[in-house]
Amino acid sequence: MQTTLMIYDGTAPADSDVPRTGGVPLAPAGFTWPMCGCGGPLQFFAHLPVEDGVLSVFVCQNDPGACEFWDATSSANRVHLFPREELQPVAVPETGVTLLPVTSAIRNHVVTLDPEEVDDHDDDDDDDDLAPDPYDLARSGWKREPEERFGKQREVLGSLGGSPSYLEDDRVPACRSCTRSMEFAAHLEEGISARTAMNLGGQLGYVFVCRACREGAFLTD
Ligand SMILES: [Zn+2]
Ligand SMILES: [Zn+2]
Repeated sequence: MQTTLMIYDGTAPADSDVPRTGGVPLAPAGFTWPMCGCGGPLQFFAHLPVEDGVLSVFVCQNDPGACEFWDATSSANRVHLFPREELQPVAVPETGVTLLPVTSAIRNHVVTLDPEEVDDHDDDDDDDDLAPDPYDLARSGWKREPEERFGKQREVLGSLGGSPSYLEDDRVPACRSCTRSMEFAAHLEEGISARTAMNLGGQLGYVFVCRACREGAFLTD
């Protein structure tokens, strides 16, 4: 059982084509900054290179309690799957909450959990406890990496691929174009520190994608 954790790796240049949260979005020419139904611009959250392009994630932070960023069908979030080539920095709107205060580089760290070891946490295989969740286990294990110091769980900025952590099946979004269920792409935590984090109401963010239609979706639990 493998989980690719996304670990905080210091700061990065704001317009770099590396995995990161914050900074300036890179997009194909002609792309305009996405707007929320509240009238304000969305805030740029993450630049996540994947196999077939770059996932670009935006969440409205103009009025976090009111704009329904937790709902995949809301205008308060947006995910694009851009081709990797010919990306350029997008012009940032002059007003509204648009950029995170810092650009945080991400390094991928593959955690392999032995299923038998995981099963040991469960005293009774026949009870109706939730099955062990790979992301939850990998994230909670991060602070216990023997060679690392304590209190590092917040360095986990999310994970790439795998399966959505404790998400009800009926919350998996459908693609707006082809109506098929979208594929899970990434978890996104709020961030490394309160000052630099996205406000997701303390919830975990989920990124989904329809690779065929090159469309994405975001929601929180
Ligand atoms: Zn809004
Ligand atoms: Zn589709």
